[in-house]
Amino acid sequence: MKVRYSYLKQQFSNSEDLWKNLKKFVSTGDFTLGKELKSFENKFANLIGTKFAVGVNSGTDAIKLSLKVLNVGPGDEVITAANTFVATVGAITEIGAIPVFVDCDDTFCMNVDLLEKKISKKTKAIVPVHFTGYMTDMPKLLKIAKKYRLPVVEDACQSILASINNKKAGCWGSFGAFSLHPLKNINVWSDGGIITTNNKKFYKRLLLLRNHGLSDRDTVKICGYNSRLDTFQAVVGNWLLPSAKKIANQRIKNANYYDKELSKIEEITIPPRIKGKKIVYHLYIIFAKHRDELLKFCLKKGIEAKVHYPRPMYLQENLKFLKHKKGDFPVTDEHTKKIITFPCDQHLSKKEMKYVINCVGEFYRKKTN
Ligand SMILES: *Cc1c(COP(=O)(O)O)cnc(C)c1O
Repeated sequence: MKVRYSYLKQQFSNSEDLWKNLKKFVSTGDFTLGKELKSFENKFANLIGTKFAVGVNSGTDAIKLSLKVLNVGPGDEVITAANTFVATVGAITEIGAIPVFVDCDDTFCMNVDLLEKKISKKTKAIVPVHFTGYMTDMPKLLKIAKKYRLPVVEDACQSILASINNKKAGCWGSFGAFSLHPLKNINVWSDGGIITTNNKKFYKRLLLLRNHGLSDRDTVKICGYNSRLDTFQAVVGNWLLPSAKKIANQRIKNANYYDKELSKIEEITIPPRIKGKKIVYHLYIIFAKHRDELLKFCLKKGIEAKVHYPRPMYLQENLKFLKHKKGDFPVTDEHTKKIITFPCDQHLSKKEMKYVINCVGEFYRKKTN
């Protein structure tokens, strides 16, 4: 049996009505900004629970433009998580700022207890990453941010509809940054991103920044970017967004099933599932003994398991100038050796999950015998 990782072929296979919408859209010629984008932004803000949302051309730019609004620039320090995806760091370095890392805990998010030590005179912002669909401990983080008067940009790219006590990712900081990349939980057909905020001044600034700084066709107010969310992609987003809750709920259901069955295997440890914290399982990651062998076994059995990630961001070549060395972030390091990711998406069948569970069980039975 084959258990694929990518479900993109299925995600848009039943989309006759979307094609109709697109055809209608093309006939309007409304290709930049315009009605469909506005409608998508309104729906998105509504879904997350913020006053405003601004579509941009990627999740990376969602972080970058938010930092720009906060006047973060060359030489400023931005604190983020040591185990994130490259894009978080790229958004920081692209504007000349310096990423300062904090280790994670077993929820794959920043260990907020270690945050305060990393704050310096140069710190300009904090970018917690709600990694894998978990939430960073935002109540605790915001207390520290407030104490030092530091603004917060949530990297919520992997955690649309995750929440703590029903307050969703993207509502806690000054900004929430989301990605609409094909591999994310809510995906369009190309790169895309969207920023949530409750602050009207910030909102207005973002509208300028994403569109060359233009306040109207003849007036350039500030130096900006070309970073609009394509209106065409907004049409796709408008079609998919009504399914957002269903998608999250199905992933949660799948993860709960995996948790229940895989926790029976001694060599497997399920990460903490904390009451009041809603995890949306962009990635379903567990800790496994003999991970490398298990991964090989699963791949041989046709299961496209993965490791997110085998080499942490802070040890990548592009960040050599930070002079980090292995061991600087021990929990992140430890994770690279024992994490394994299994497909958990909304298109996965129970049969496929059972097969995964059986294969993992078979591997350890063979291992001990
Ligand atoms: C995907 C992702 C981003 C950025 O997304 P793009 O849309 O690909 O630019 C940022 N941070 C994290 C944690 C991500 O997973």
